[in-house]
Amino acid sequence: MPEPVLYVDGAWVAARAGGTREIRCPADGSLVAVVDEADASDTDLAIAAAHRAFHAGPWPTTPSRERGDLLLRVADLLERDADEVARMESLDTGKRFVESQYDVADVVSVFRHYGRVAAEEAGRVVDTGNPDVVSKIVHEPVGVCGLVTPWNYPLLQVAWKVGPCLAAGNTFVLKPSELTPHSAIHLMKVLEEAGLPAGVANLVLGAGASAGAPLATDPRVDLISFTGGLQTGKALMAAASGTVKKVALELGGKNPNIVFADADLEVALDLALTAVFLHSGQVCSAGARLLVEESIHDEFVDQLVARAGDIRLGGPFDDTAETGPLTSAAHRDKVEAYVARGLAEGAVLRCGGSRPEDPALADGFYYLPTILDGCSSDMSVAQDESFGPVLTVETFTSEDEAVTIANDSIYGLAGAVWTRDAGRAERVAARLRMGTVWINDYHPYVPQAEWGGYKQSGIGRELGEAGLEEYRETKHVWHNIRPVVQHWFSPGTPE
Ligand code: NAD
Repeated sequence: MPEPVLYVDGAWVAARAGGTREIRCPADGSLVAVVDEADASDTDLAIAAAHRAFHAGPWPTTPSRERGDLLLRVADLLERDADEVARMESLDTGKRFVESQYDVADVVSVFRHYGRVAAEEAGRVVDTGNPDVVSKIVHEPVGVCGLVTPWNYPLLQVAWKVGPCLAAGNTFVLKPSELTPHSAIHLMKVLEEAGLPAGVANLVLGAGASAGAPLATDPRVDLISFTGGLQTGKALMAAASGTVKKVALELGGKNPNIVFADADLEVALDLALTAVFLHSGQVCSAGARLLVEESIHDEFVDQLVARAGDIRLGGPFDDTAETGPLTSAAHRDKVEAYVARGLAEGAVLRCGGSRPEDPALADGFYYLPTILDGCSSDMSVAQDESFGPVLTVETFTSEDEAVTIANDSIYGLAGAVWTRDAGRAERVAARLRMGTVWINDYHPYVPQAEWGGYKQSGIGRELGEAGLEEYRETKHVWHNIRPVVQHWFSPGTPE
């Protein structure tokens, strides 16, 4: 029997109903492990444990500096285990080992960041104008948090939630993607080793509809923070309305990468490839919608096509590979259907558009880097997120038109503008309705800066100061230090 891997109330337990799931590496279909598969009854126990741990303490009232110290220990322990965790991430996701190493380094820096800021912003005193009143604003944890995360950056998405959640003194139930559980299991071990009290952190693994759904409906859960697809986010938001819990959503994007003719085209071209093809496009902020000034379209796209055709696909431990597979057969089917729709709508296939022919890749879920030219805003491929290695290309002839096309989307997660004209760069950045805008760059982020989406890319922010605020309640305490009768109502007749 494999070791139990659900973590509830400080103990490792198997699924109550005995469910299990095979985890397979997307690069070659090989079996990574068999893990417990929770259902709603396991989640119910996990919520009960988080609820007890919140209300009985001591975590929510542990001094915030001590909570920060624990997060710093977590960062150190993850750094100690970095290669082991990176290996787990690569086996679960199929991504290159070196990319997983970068991801784990990011995870470490996220925990360090929240370890450092945990004790900041202790509240404030309010001047009421009344000398007989002490009025103060204090921050408190929200309570029990349900954390639901996707498979593309498994531990990183978890860290963006768990770091501020613990820094603020909450307890939580984490439901990571059922496809990529191993780094979350390891995080629970690290939290235990760092000394987190039992019941504060709980882990359930399993399908969203069974193991995840109760986190949105259970009245004992005070906040649900979700990262994933738009349709799931909408369903969770609707489900959470029944108990008016706080809802934080990090959803998808169809992110414009705008290249003006006056840009440093060598750099713009290089990063246009990274923007869309990193991790085979399975990045929420992927620059999958290229808007290129018409005068340079032909030359720029010809060169992109040549470079995209040279991208080497391969498994996580193939040193020659530049990017890996899609996460599952079902996801590749979706990407294929998306490309077929685009071609039916009149997009011009410039490269890719199929699975690789290399027999060495036949057992993995690979899809060639694909460029669809001749697109326009009214095509579904220009509007929908493919979450795969597919770039759509549109052209513009003026700054105004570039902005109009870029904002013509239900999404508003991220975008980039490439130009040597600093004034234009600032004007365009100011007009883009997106949570992140890069100027002459693509993809970098730091834990000190907020991340999140406008429009249907989400609600709320992760990282930065706002990322911590998500996990805090604000209380006003009014203290009358010289109480006197007011006789608002008549004092009554003495007996
Ligand atoms: P998904 O919505 O299918 O699943 C995300 C998580 O939700 C998984 O853990 C899943 O099990 C769970 N889930 C599914 N149905 C549920 C339900 N009814 N109740 C509770 N939980 C449920 O998304 P995915 O395919 O795993 O991830 C890809 C999507 O995530 C993309 O759209 C991508 O853009 C988005 N994403 C966004 C960001 C961001 O920061 N904005 C980051 C990464 C990924």
